[in-house]
Amino acid sequence: MNTVTSVKKRFIDTLGQNYSFHELSSMWSQWVVKELLNKSSINYFLEGDFMVSEIDENLIDSLILHLSSYKPIQYFFGYSYFKNLKIQVDASVLIPRPETEQLVDMVIDYVKENKVSTIIDIGTGSGCISIAIGKKIKSNIFAIDVSSQAIAKATSNSKTHQVDIDFKLIDILNVDLYKILPKVDLIVSNPPYVLKREVPEKSVVHSEPKHAIFVPDDDPLIFYKSILNFAKTNLNRGGKIFLEINPLLVSKLIGCMSKYGYSDIQVCTDFYQKKRFIIVS
Ligand code: GLN
Repeated sequence: MNTVTSVKKRFIDTLGQNYSFHELSSMWSQWVVKELLNKSSINYFLEGDFMVSEIDENLIDSLILHLSSYKPIQYFFGYSYFKNLKIQVDASVLIPRPETEQLVDMVIDYVKENKVSTIIDIGTGSGCISIAIGKKIKSNIFAIDVSSQAIAKATSNSKTHQVDIDFKLIDILNVDLYKILPKVDLIVSNPPYVLKREVPEKSVVHSEPKHAIFVPDDDPLIFYKSILNFAKTNLNRGGKIFLEINPLLVSKLIGCMSKYGYSDIQVCTDFYQKKRFIIVS
C-alpha cells in the first residue's frame, strides 16, 4: 500500500507527457478523488496523506494505462455527468460536453414560456439532451440517431432517469424517412460539426465515434442542411430550432439559413464567449 501523495505523484508524473498539469489535476480531483476513491473534496482534504487500498491503487494504475493511450476518462468509468444527471457512455456515443448544457438550458427556458407540445432531438447519442429536457418539462419528446448502439444507450439512460422519450433509429440524411417522424414545435440538435484539422493527432477526441464528431471539409454543414430540410416538412408554423454549432462555421451557417428563408437568426455565445449556438424561427 502507498500513500495518496505518492500515488498522485505517480499519476501526474506518468501522464505528464500526455496531458497538461491542469488537465491532470482536474482529472485527479473530479474523477480519481470523487468517483474512484469515493471521497468528497472536503474529506479528501481533511484525511491528509491517507493510505490508498491495494484495490484502489490497482484501479488507478489501470486508469493511467487507459489515459496514456488517449482514451477519454469517461469511457474508463462508463459514465459522465450532464446537468447533474449520471449519463452512461461508451465508445459508441459522444461524451456530453458542458457547453451543451447551455443549449439545454436555452430550450428549457423557451419551453417554459411558450406552447411546445412536441420536441425532436436530432442525433441524440447518449440521449443526454432529451433526458435533461424531459426531466424539466412535459412536452412529448422524440429523439433520433443513426447508430443502433447509441439508441440502445440512450434508451437505457432514459429508463435510469425515468424520462419517457420516443427513440427512433433514423438517419437525418435520409429524406425519405421524414414522413415517419411527427410534426414538431421545436427541434434541438448538437450534430457533428468538427473539422479534422481542428483536432490534434494526439487527442482523446479520436477515441469517440467519428461519425458523431467529424464533418467532411467539402460539406461541413451537411447535417445542418438536413435539419433545415426536415424543418421544411416537419416543423410546425411558429416553431423554433435550437442548434449547437462550430464557432468556425457560424457565418457559413447563417448564410445557409438565409438561403432557406430564415430571417430571425439569433447567435448565442458559450461560456468561453465563442459563438456556439444558433436559434432560428
Ligand atoms: N463540441 C464537441 C467537441 O468540441 C463536438 C460536438 C459535435 O461535433 N457536435 O469535440
